[in-house]
Amino acid sequence: NISSYLGLTQKLGKAAERIKFTRFAPERECGVVRGYLEKVGESGVCRICGQRAADPESTADVKVFPDHKEGQHEPVCAACHDHIFLGKYGVKQPVLFVTTPDQLNGSHRAHLSIPIFGSYQVYFGKTLEQSHEVTREMEHPSTLRAWDISSPWRPDQSNGYLLASRLISGYVPRYDQDSTVTGENDEHHEAGDPVTLSDICREASGVSEEDGKRYGLEALGVLKADVDDLGFHMECGIAPEDYSIGRVATLSRFINNFFALYLPDLLNSDPRFNKIYTVFGGGDDLFLIGPWPAVIDLGEHLYQSFSEYVCANDKLHFSAGITLHHDKTPIEQLAREAEHALEQAKEHKGKNALSLFASVVSWDEVSKLRREGKRLLDYLESEVISHGYLYSLNNYLLMAEEEARLLSDHKEGIPLKNLRSLRWRALLAYSSARNVDAQALDDADISTLIADITRQIEDYRGAFRIPLWETLYKIRRS
Ligand SMILES: [Zn+2]
Repeated sequence: NISSYLGLTQKLGKAAERIKFTRFAPERECGVVRGYLEKVGESGVCRICGQRAADPESTADVKVFPDHKEGQHEPVCAACHDHIFLGKYGVKQPVLFVTTPDQLNGSHRAHLSIPIFGSYQVYFGKTLEQSHEVTREMEHPSTLRAWDISSPWRPDQSNGYLLASRLISGYVPRYDQDSTVTGENDEHHEAGDPVTLSDICREASGVSEEDGKRYGLEALGVLKADVDDLGFHMECGIAPEDYSIGRVATLSRFINNFFALYLPDLLNSDPRFNKIYTVFGGGDDLFLIGPWPAVIDLGEHLYQSFSEYVCANDKLHFSAGITLHHDKTPIEQLAREAEHALEQAKEHKGKNALSLFASVVSWDEVSKLRREGKRLLDYLESEVISHGYLYSLNNYLLMAEEEARLLSDHKEGIPLKNLRSLRWRALLAYSSARNVDAQALDDADISTLIADITRQIEDYRGAFRIPLWETLYKIRRS
């Protein structure tokens, strides 16, 4: 019955909203953790979260500790153990088994320390060579589910069994061959191991043909994105007479497929993007880490391909936040800052925006601004303008931003004592006339260039940072 289904989803939507907008109440949601101090006294605090008591039964090979030795296992808390367990095997093994917690099919394989809801145990299995074991375990009465989580775009990794596929492992860049990096950590990587964040960071820079030195800022780019107002579209986007379980499920699955199937395949097959990790990709949102220039390119590419995917439906689009970080920044901090950038993008009028370098612009503007960035780079490479000149544009940008702020705060006119920021056009013209190489361009072209840059700063104000900083970071020498 369609009408009761629609009524039910509306009721559920309202109930979810009520919870979302209810103030968090510690007296209702929290409580005393009994025996906490005793447990900490017995086994110490977990070194990963620093909050829960370490569990003597849960150990992990934690490479992030500075005093870590190869193969050394440390006691951690059960929750941290399970996060490491899921992260490690989820990208390495092709089959995920869900069983009852009491029965691990008699084996001693790695499993969760805390079964999910106390009722479901999880472990991973099996390469192709061990496939007879998969059959045996699938037939075992305690096996509740077995899913193929290998990458469907990589048939070479297939486990050879017809299991239901779950697109949860995303794409992870891996080393092609064994390699030993000597240096700070003397790390050894086997072929197939996930690429470390410091090596991903290094991919952001290049080597100069002239002097063999590295150039370009070595930083991670973190992208968080989601589809704007998807919940609203799911509830109201389908006409009441067409509203059915089938249509809602199809819409939901197709959106999920873009992030969980198309995106990992793109990362795997397009050499521009194959050093980008999916930390999470599915449902309607996305959390990626990669070399920062590739992440910005990917953001723009995804916006365009998503728009094609939804047949240019102008109600469906997404917003993203991109932040740049040092490779030693804790993942939690990366996530928090990128999430904050995403929230700023969502505040943009009409959403459908990108937040980058503390500026928020619509995707249409992103393409225009990045074309300007390429032009600045061309001028720089043909030595029409200098590095110093590009850096100096930052000052005019700040003044132009200040001018815009004053104009909106003082509708009757900017007070005399605040006129300083209005000088940016004159200063820019003066600096340009002195710094643009008159041998490389004739007078008319210099005037056009100055007029162009002035107009860009006038139109975009602070957002001109996007092409400017992208160019400056790309050419930066360490
Ligand atoms: Zn912990």
